[in-house]
Amino acid sequence: MRAIVIGGSIGGLFTAHYLIKLGWSVEVYERVGEELAGRGAGIMTHPELIDALSGIGIDPGASVGVPIQTRITLDPQGNWVGSLELPQVATAWGRIYRLLREAFPDAYYHHGTGVEQVLQSDGGVRVRLSNGSLREADLLVGADGIRSIVRNLVYPQAQPQYAGYIAWRGLVEEPDFSPAAHKEIFEYFAFCLPPREQMLAYPVAGQGDNVGPGRRRYNFVWYRPVDELTELPAFLTDATGRQFEMSIPPPLIRPELVRGMRADAERLLPPAFAEMVHKADPVFFQPIYDLTVERMAAGRALITGDAAFVARPHCGMGVTKAAGDAVALVASLQRHGGDLEAALQAYSRERVPYGNAVINHARHLGAYMQAQLKSAEEREMAERYRTPEAVMRETAVPFYMPAP
Ligand SMILES: Cc1cc2nc3c(=O)[nH]c(=O)nc-3n(C[C@H](O)[C@H](O)[C@H](O)COP(=O)(O)OP(=O)(O)OC[C@H]3O[C@@H](n4cnc5c(N)ncnc54)[C@H](O)[C@@H]3O)c2cc1C
Repeated sequence: MRAIVIGGSIGGLFTAHYLIKLGWSVEVYERVGEELAGRGAGIMTHPELIDALSGIGIDPGASVGVPIQTRITLDPQGNWVGSLELPQVATAWGRIYRLLREAFPDAYYHHGTGVEQVLQSDGGVRVRLSNGSLREADLLVGADGIRSIVRNLVYPQAQPQYAGYIAWRGLVEEPDFSPAAHKEIFEYFAFCLPPREQMLAYPVAGQGDNVGPGRRRYNFVWYRPVDELTELPAFLTDATGRQFEMSIPPPLIRPELVRGMRADAERLLPPAFAEMVHKADPVFFQPIYDLTVERMAAGRALITGDAAFVARPHCGMGVTKAAGDAVALVASLQRHGGDLEAALQAYSRERVPYGNAVINHARHLGAYMQAQLKSAEEREMAERYRTPEAVMRETAVPFYMPAP
């Protein structure tokens, strides 16, 4: 059996590895020319992610990331207003990507090759590549992220919904920290909760995946409300006046937005966090979106990872969810023997409720930062997730489906 996988990021690579393990022949098409490892920043690992890597023979080993024991919340003066013992390992998106990519045969990974058109018929699927050529296969995997073109075959009604806030992100090299700021936050998963905002930060591996003391980096995510109608268009406009649709490439973010954000850091954040925001370079922001679908497969096409469900990052589940989709897909293919379409329907039935549950939980965790709270449920959740205890207990911890 042959599969075409569109998108060579985490979701695409997990699916391709698992299909090869089942004996499929797989071609992965990734439109970005250079390797993707530089993308993204820190992420939290969960046991399901490590299990999914083990399932395809990848042992991430002890150096997968930086162990963290304790979470703390600081007030604007830098005093502890809460702490929680919660051992976890923080890694980097690039580290997981590299583990998957290095274990994947180059011959089947085509970077710099986008897919421009997707079609399916009763007997198979067909795609047109950016170089004009056509490819056919038995199965089409849409691992092409939030703007998926495969989603148009599977569930065209779905549209990403802006959540009402953005996340500023950045990394600081460990040696660049002042001794005072290092002592105050570096070994911790640290939070700060300014009114209607949330800052969180934690250590991750440094250059060359180095996790040794002195060689690490500190990663921050600062959630800030930005109104969709009155503010977001200006955030998505570059210095030449060109406005982007959903996100702006980091190098094109206008310097005055960065200066404004850094000035606000002085005013709103504890000194150690403010120092970090000043030293991080480059910094960039991502508007936060929710995306849900009611189907993850149609005929011989399926969607996986962020092509299907995009959860706000508070759960820290994006990578683990993409891995879980791949594991569920191969289990379903094995259960259904040669009946490919039945296997895809079963995959969709299993993963849609899971995706919805993750998205709902992430919405609840993020309600506090929304520029506008539209429903009674949003107001209730904004109230629930505004205390240090609730935020520390539920942010970026493994997510399990609530019992029916
Ligand atoms: C602020 C923020 C914080 C986050 N924090 C975490 C975290 O702590 N933990 C976590 O697990 N996740 C986190 N995530 C989410 C995580 O980045 C994604 O969920 C993860 O990368 C899985 O995505 P994916 O492979 O499905 O899609 P993507 O990573 O979006 O990849 C899609 C790929 O498809 C390619 N592509 C698109 N269209 C085409 C085409 N037509 N032809 C060829 N190629 C195409 C793209 O170039 C891209 O490489 C965070 C996200 C954000 C925004």
